[in-house]
Amino acid sequence: MSSVKKVLVIGAGIGGQSAAIGLKKAGIEVEIVEIHEAFNVYGVGIIQQQNALRALDMIGIGGETMRRGSPYGQVKMFTAGGHFIGPAGAPPNEKYPSHNGISRRVLHDIMFEECTKLGIPIRMGLTVEAIDNKPDCVDVTFTDGTSGSYDLLIASDGINSKVRGMIFEEISPRYVGLSVWRYPFKRHEDLDTGYIYYGRKSKAGFVPMSADTMYMFLVSAEGEDWRVPEDQMVSKLKEYMAEYPIKMARDLMEQVTDAKLVNYRPLDALRISGEWYKNRVVIIGDGAHATIPQLGSGAALAIEDAVVLADELQKNNTVEEALPAFMKRRYDRCMAVVNASETLGEWELLEFQGKPLPEGANIGALVGRTMGGLAAPI
Ligand SMILES: Cc1cc2nc3c(=O)[nH]c(=O)nc-3n(C[C@H](O)[C@H](O)[C@H](O)COP(=O)(O)OP(=O)(O)OC[C@H]3O[C@@H](n4cnc5c(N)ncnc54)[C@H](O)[C@@H]3O)c2cc1C
Repeated sequence: MSSVKKVLVIGAGIGGQSAAIGLKKAGIEVEIVEIHEAFNVYGVGIIQQQNALRALDMIGIGGETMRRGSPYGQVKMFTAGGHFIGPAGAPPNEKYPSHNGISRRVLHDIMFEECTKLGIPIRMGLTVEAIDNKPDCVDVTFTDGTSGSYDLLIASDGINSKVRGMIFEEISPRYVGLSVWRYPFKRHEDLDTGYIYYGRKSKAGFVPMSADTMYMFLVSAEGEDWRVPEDQMVSKLKEYMAEYPIKMARDLMEQVTDAKLVNYRPLDALRISGEWYKNRVVIIGDGAHATIPQLGSGAALAIEDAVVLADELQKNNTVEEALPAFMKRRYDRCMAVVNASETLGEWELLEFQGKPLPEGANIGALVGRTMGGLAAPI
């Protein structure tokens, strides 16, 4: 029986809400603080592989996620001109499809509804002002002047984590030279699964989010000058899309009209160098190991972190035993994804710059090996 009775979660994102759900179901009192006054999750989707669905199942929301998302098969990969390269992703098994695509907002709603059902308090517009991280408890002062004492604080405040700077180390995300453009659409009639097209200047993916909706992601190499003024968002995205002379890309290109719907962001990576825990504070998800999305797995890792942490807190008598056991189960697995994603990003960058790939570079083998590894139990 765990000595942990009361936990504070900082950040109501994918990792934070997953952790809160897992802990509450394990009988541990938990509360969340979220810096934003209201949730404003952006309107594109997220790709979930089988390991993400399995982890969501472990906290009881895998079925709902598939019901409100769009399960689909292996991804079909093509050259920009439409020459078939091959399939990607695990074949479906008796429990899970190859992939599930889902709107980020819908995934957030599912998690929030579950937190509400379980009676987990989420205090909005609030964060930590000070943390006194002692060996046997953690005392927190919040930005509204209130305070609390907890057995454990879980920092799940994302890639720009404030708690990371307060407790672990001051590091900034590293821009990798690539950017992603995303845009939501009504589902195209030809979208029967996920698609990826490898162009000379970009890589474009088409992903189902529900029976009626889909989104496109497009990876480009913007280099040091990555900022794009809002009045160029639509024209620049369409310029990239013009490289793909396939019907779906052509049809969708005509629908790219609203700069406000272009979700554009440079890609950052980050990993903390030391342990993910100190006394009574542990950091999970992007705050500890943010991966660029070349393998579409950052959120999956955050959910898995949450599941494994809840499991170790239940299994061990003390925090001193649970936290090292948690990190031991997570470190290699997370680093495999982070490292492989960064290598894939480096190769994409070289391709988009018209430079040769390093000798022996094999995208298919690296993706297959890394994603195959994620099928192992957590
Ligand atoms: C372009 C792109 C595409 C991606 N696609 C995929 C994909 O297809 N599949 C996949 O699995 N992953 C994908 N990811 C990765 C995924 O989005 C992240 O890994 C995941 O959101 C990390 O979850 P998290 O809970 O650690 O952080 P977040 O989801 O970022 O949540 C952090 C939460 O903490 C809150 N917060 C921040 N600071 C504070 C504070 N000081 N106090 C309180 N609250 C705070 C934030 O408001 C937020 O609610 C993608 C990432 C990018 C950039």
